[in-house]
Amino acid sequence: MAEKLYLGLDIGGTAIKAGICDGEGRLLHAVEGPTEGGEGAERILQNAARCARRCVEESQYGWDRIAAVGAGVPGFLDAVRGIVKFSPNLPLAGFPLRDRLAEALGKPVAVGNDANAAALGEAWSGAGRGVASCVLYTLGTGVGGGIVVNGQLIEGFTGMGGELGHMKVVPDLEAIQCGCGQKGCLETVSSATGIVRMARGAVERGDRTSLALVENLTAKDVFDAAKAGDEAARRIIERAALYLGKSMALVAVIVNPELFIIGGGLSQAGEFLIEQVREAFRKCALERAQEGVGIVAAALGNNAGVVGAAGLARRLAS
Ligand SMILES: [Zn+2]
Repeated sequence: MAEKLYLGLDIGGTAIKAGICDGEGRLLHAVEGPTEGGEGAERILQNAARCARRCVEESQYGWDRIAAVGAGVPGFLDAVRGIVKFSPNLPLAGFPLRDRLAEALGKPVAVGNDANAAALGEAWSGAGRGVASCVLYTLGTGVGGGIVVNGQLIEGFTGMGGELGHMKVVPDLEAIQCGCGQKGCLETVSSATGIVRMARGAVERGDRTSLALVENLTAKDVFDAAKAGDEAARRIIERAALYLGKSMALVAVIVNPELFIIGGGLSQAGEFLIEQVREAFRKCALERAQEGVGIVAAALGNNAGVVGAAGLARRLAS
């Protein structure tokens, strides 16, 4: 019998990616299409189903080879009932995505948070391949996360497991409001949004910095300035790295993973960022909880989500 294959769908704010993976997490074929989130939930569903069908049709594999389908979506999900509770960029709140996709595609479907899916992808065939327990931080507009322990994704009671961006690590006196309603979340300092906000603050305060001359500041501008020796920019990146390392120190005494993986847009900064995170982790973590623990960059890049979504499908079908 031919090997079972798994179809992953990474449903993002602007694009949907569909990909076919084998049982080892190798991405065999992938296509992309528009989300058109502004057109409503039904349109998103149609586009996801269309993207999935096109992926299979354009590949050398038939639908009968696909054992199950997995879909990763940004936001909070009820993974048990397969319903999206809240999505920051997509009008999917309350939408029974799992059952509607299953109906449209005629396959069993699993849904999950996109960051959890990405963690599963990295653990399966990315930077965490061969590692039993690893934790992924996705640093982008926000901070997402996912925890894999002994090969199992830890989603928790209602799917809130691995929401690492909402660990309250910033002391009250420095804490600002997070999009989630709390104050002092990791996301407020260690995301692209947080870094840009701190940079604007430095410029407004009149700190001496080359960033004052940059229009439409991005996190990359701040990294570039820090690398070039700009003191204010360097302090901002150091702060983002400090709270990341601090949050990892907390995770280290809860799940004691072998590996922390850093993915998302900010991981483009590479060793410049990661070395600072390692230093902060070394300072903050209990000595025995950091023994032999690695902190590395993600390996799958933009494919982590689609591979991980296929991983959600594999979990369902095996
Ligand atoms: Zn928060």
